[in-house]
Amino acid sequence: MSQNAVSYQIIPYNPQAHLFRIKCTIENPDQNGQRISLPAWIPGSYMIREFAKHVVRLSACTNDQAVAVNKLDKQTWQCARCEGPLTIEYDVYAWDLSVRQAHLDTRHAFFNGTSVFVAVEGQENLPCRVNIQLPSGNQYLHWRVATAMKRDGANLFQPGWYYAADYDELVDHPVEMGDFEIADFEVAGVPHHFVVTGRHYSDLKRIAADIKPLCEHHVEMFGELPEMERYLFLLTCVGEGYGGLEHRACCSLISTRSDLPRAHETHISEEYQKFLGLCSHEYFHTWNVKRIKPKVFVKPKLNQEAYTRLLWAFEGITSYYDDLSLLRVGMISRENYLDVLARQITRYLRTPGRHQQSVAESSFEAWTKFYKQDENSLNAIVSYYNKGALVACLLDLEIRRQTNHMKSLDDVMRQLWIEYGKPGIGIDETELQNLISTMTGLDLNDFFERTVSSCAELEFKDIFSEFGVSYTTRAPLGLTDLGGRPWGNCKSMSSYFGFDLKARFGPAVLAYVLVDSPFCQAGFAAGDVLIALDRLQVDAVCLESRLLRYKSGDSVHVHVFRGDELIEADVLLQAAQQSTCCLQLSGDADAWLGKGNPMTV
Ligand code: ZN
Repeated sequence: MSQNAVSYQIIPYNPQAHLFRIKCTIENPDQNGQRISLPAWIPGSYMIREFAKHVVRLSACTNDQAVAVNKLDKQTWQCARCEGPLTIEYDVYAWDLSVRQAHLDTRHAFFNGTSVFVAVEGQENLPCRVNIQLPSGNQYLHWRVATAMKRDGANLFQPGWYYAADYDELVDHPVEMGDFEIADFEVAGVPHHFVVTGRHYSDLKRIAADIKPLCEHHVEMFGELPEMERYLFLLTCVGEGYGGLEHRACCSLISTRSDLPRAHETHISEEYQKFLGLCSHEYFHTWNVKRIKPKVFVKPKLNQEAYTRLLWAFEGITSYYDDLSLLRVGMISRENYLDVLARQITRYLRTPGRHQQSVAESSFEAWTKFYKQDENSLNAIVSYYNKGALVACLLDLEIRRQTNHMKSLDDVMRQLWIEYGKPGIGIDETELQNLISTMTGLDLNDFFERTVSSCAELEFKDIFSEFGVSYTTRAPLGLTDLGGRPWGNCKSMSSYFGFDLKARFGPAVLAYVLVDSPFCQAGFAAGDVLIALDRLQVDAVCLESRLLRYKSGDSVHVHVFRGDELIEADVLLQAAQQSTCCLQLSGDADAWLGKGNPMTV
């Protein structure tokens, strides 16, 4: 069989109608009739998305003769028996501006391989070539192509031939086309490109200069950068948006353009800090989940769910290090870092679902619960990102404490890379916890049983205190208090209602009602539109100041609309919950947090 038994051609052939046209040529089709399919999910985003639903038209031919095609299920096509070469031609509708699918208009083209390239059954492990073409027309002549896919004749950032060693590699290299900007930097001798699409007003050189030390931190921690020719950050700027998806030699990012620094700015705003945390997070995945991975993610079946109880480790540990590395490279102060961590703990404490679902279960049920959240999610589930990051933090401290600071989670990650990530060995579902115990020489069974397998409350106070950090909780200072050091002389809320709003403007629509809270007990529900408290009108804007007036034990007469029906009831308020966390330096925190950078305090 020839080396390039499968080749693809993709062209954004009708940008106005958001249609890519793809041709897939199979030199040696299955003698019994070739089957082809599109994936149902994209690695890194654990939800069935049915990419095949966007295929508009599909036909097959061999030597200019039509070949009959029969659709077998939502994502699989069966071609009639024929001699090769067999060419499949189809269009894909691309109008999803996210990191997970494909998007095409007259400004740019973006696609993930999982949305556009059919898998050729039986030939998924063979190398394939891809010819990436620009749309036809003068207005597209200056478009370039950004992808970390290996070039097979194409010039850097130009259309032409690319190749992949197998189907998994093919669909792990998203492609951006358009009139984008690029800032270059080098990490570990490997070229890194920061590619930006969409209108923005930011200083790309500064962003590249800020990301570089974060990348270097991760490389130093793991000991080396995995083998790659180049690494790409593919950023799309939008008016309002946030997201990222990791790949083996690149990541796709979406960011609100106002989060990025303007040319004259030098400080790190809270929004920009969050963006740098996102870049740090996706880059950390280059090791943790793209190479150190659960066994089920090695050659995953993309036509159905791939279940694992380990997402807490792959997303949680990554989430722990994404912000911690901002501190370690001196980009934020220790106080800033503790505020970020305190907000993470606050989120956890405000999730009643932490008593219903362990972080291992949260990982396993990601497909139907975490990725399909609804108004009851806070009551029913816990996030494997949020609790996973806190478990990672406690694990790091536990290792440091029990080894008398001789070892840390850093050492575990480096060893996981050397023994599993680098040689490409998947980690068995039950193996990870034993591995960490063995690598540290500690018996961590009880720790994992408590924090990962059960719903037991995470305990921070004593261990933080051993590492020079005081842990306190308080009532929130209004609806927008997310935790961290209190600001100004704001008044705390003295009563607990148990809901939040969908938006802070317009009508006061309840986003959720927490289980057994005063609003729940009075019979109110998500979707109810709050119109009056004690017979005085409220909306989303004035609600907070009205709520602050009440104290625990007060009875409030509440009117809402549920649909078009007016409902009223008395709500007996409870005492405000002490669910807002504050962390402050109280002793020698150097062993955990380093000395901190006085320039950024
Ligand atoms: Zn992640």
